[in-house]
Amino acid sequence: MESTAKKRIIIAVDGFSSCGKSTFAKAIAARLGYIFIDTGAMYRAVTLYALEHGAIRSGMVDEDKVVGLLGQIDIDFRFNPERGASDIYVNGDLVEGKIRSIEVSNCVSPVSSIRQVREKLVAMQQQMGRKRGVVMDGRDIGTVVFPDAEMKIFMTADPKVRAQRRYDELRAKGDNVSLEEIEANVVARDHADMTRAISPLRKADDAIVLDNSHMTVDEQMEWFMEHYRAVTGAC
Ligand code: C5P
Repeated sequence: MESTAKKRIIIAVDGFSSCGKSTFAKAIAARLGYIFIDTGAMYRAVTLYALEHGAIRSGMVDEDKVVGLLGQIDIDFRFNPERGASDIYVNGDLVEGKIRSIEVSNCVSPVSSIRQVREKLVAMQQQMGRKRGVVMDGRDIGTVVFPDAEMKIFMTADPKVRAQRRYDELRAKGDNVSLEEIEANVVARDHADMTRAISPLRKADDAIVLDNSHMTVDEQMEWFMEHYRAVTGAC
């Protein structure tokens, strides 16, 4: 039988908003030579497109209009060696820099609760992971997208720590946001993601929990490698 250590596996990283899932998942992928897929970026890209095409007005999402736009949204990832990660494109346009704005963050939860949006993106994610050797981060990877993932991690952190991290990230990019606004968004998104009817955010029964409130990236990597070795038998 082929050993799991040699076999390329799927690593699902789910959890709350802004707890550093992407940073963690990207670091794991680089360490293992795996592909990293940020599924939140896909929901954000659809939201941005909906904002730019009149399907969201004054923060109100018109579900029928969003569904009507889905057929004309083509999403792809292209590796950017400068970032050491993939950038997201919509219909050939680079949107990586636009999808993390507070405007997109405020509308992404209602957009991602639309059944047809999830069906389209989940199918794409399953296709991207078909050859395995991927680290995918999101909310429903271990429960819905890849319930058979060999390794499932559920990330969490203190909401205040999470808000501060997102605030530092946005301020560093020059966004003029307040900490209160970010904190309200993080709490509201968690609530919406956990209580939606389709694929709510929840820990898969077989996921291991990583609370990184007070952990550095290096400590998280050490924690991961210990579990990875236990799962795969790698040395
Ligand atoms: O991970 P990130 O915070 O960028 O995700 C943005 C939003 O996209 C989440 O708040 C959630 O509403 C949605 N999402 C989702 N399912 C995923 C990934 C993200 O519903 N797998």
